[in-house]
Amino acid sequence: MYISLKDKKIRAKVQKEFRLTERFSAGRKFILVQIPLWYTNKDFSKITRKLDVWLEKLEKNNPGFLNRYIIKDYFNENIVEIMNEKLVLSIKEEERKTISGKKMGDSVLIKAPFNADPEFLRKGVIGTLKKIFKLNIEEEVYSINNDTIRGSIKSIKLKDNFSNWGSCSNTGNINLSIRLLLLPFEVRKYVIIHELCHLVELNHSRKFWSLVEKHCPDYRRYEKWLKLNGYKYYL
Ligand SMILES: [Zn+2]
Repeated sequence: MYISLKDKKIRAKVQKEFRLTERFSAGRKFILVQIPLWYTNKDFSKITRKLDVWLEKLEKNNPGFLNRYIIKDYFNENIVEIMNEKLVLSIKEEERKTISGKKMGDSVLIKAPFNADPEFLRKGVIGTLKKIFKLNIEEEVYSINNDTIRGSIKSIKLKDNFSNWGSCSNTGNINLSIRLLLLPFEVRKYVIIHELCHLVELNHSRKFWSLVEKHCPDYRRYEKWLKLNGYKYYL
């Protein structure tokens, strides 16, 4: 479910439990709203004002923090800029239960049920974009690997997450956030080099960072860029 805050939809989960008052907290994927068991819908509508104030304070103290909870609205003719390609979404509502999508020239045709839940539609759009760009990102990673680490990669997966830009296991499985595809190439390249270096050095030791520096001398600039701008990029 979601909570509307101004014109934004914030991903939330409401939990009824044995407690005296309501409690709000920021989880990894959603805002958790814990309410006493005996609260009725009427009580709940009363606390939404409190929740709005709490959310606004959270955003004020940490600008961009709420972005991770936003359920982006996708509508017809939305333009998505991804891996330097501008794609126009063409969303067609029809009598169906699932979402399917494919690329046609410079547009992405999405077939969705009528009045789909915004998170369901968002997931469908992201699933389609993952499918379209899987090969491109794989090619990019292999080509960067070839020019740098030459490590052995077992798999490359795109994830719909906000918690990190990428991760790498000791068995050579590389996970990259789909948000990475929205970043300027140079920054994305740094993140990829960073993950590839983890094929050699699993932790963030001094040895790791000097390996990163060897293949990406400007890495500090990109780290800073990500901290300052990264939160603005999400799907
Ligand atoms: Zn790392």
